[in-house]
Amino acid sequence: MVLMNDRCRADSQCVALTTDGAAITNQPLCHACVNLLQERYDELPEILRVLPAWKAGMRGESGEAKVSKSKGEPPLPINVGVLDVIDMIQGILEDIGSLRISDLARHENGVGRALRAGWAWKQADRIIGISRARTRRFSPCQECGQRSLGQYAGETKIHCANCGFSQTLEEYSAHIITVRKS
Ligand SMILES: [Zn+2]
Ligand SMILES: [Zn+2]
Repeated sequence: MVLMNDRCRADSQCVALTTDGAAITNQPLCHACVNLLQERYDELPEILRVLPAWKAGMRGESGEAKVSKSKGEPPLPINVGVLDVIDMIQGILEDIGSLRISDLARHENGVGRALRAGWAWKQADRIIGISRARTRRFSPCQECGQRSLGQYAGETKIHCANCGFSQTLEEYSAHIITVRKS
């Protein structure tokens, strides 16, 4: 029997979400969520470094270059969204520090704090477009049986978002043939 608390607490945001809900796990967050949140958390310092370039509200324009070109021209509006995201990321880095996401998730309110890091990453992604396009593959994973296989643009391997299993395109093709025969 699957109890509610055997599900990944990322809930509808679970990386390995399927039609029957979040991933089944005995941890607060499933393996896939921990990995993704760790990856995204680790990118936050670099994101924080580049984000000010979007402060002027224009892609690639330096935040410092806010001097009006002619007198009487109103100054460029500061994109409040960017400043909010910068503040949020600074707060998250101070909050989590060098704690691993897998350890953080076991703290009281740890899941919420970890998910906040993922949310901030998504806000930054919305501004600077860092995410890589991921194509879903619909055959179930050979290892865990979940329909959570996918491939990132430019990568030659297919990964399972649930269990981390990875395979080449050739292996995947062979797998589909076996699935169809059975
Ligand atoms: Zn999850
Ligand atoms: Zn899998």
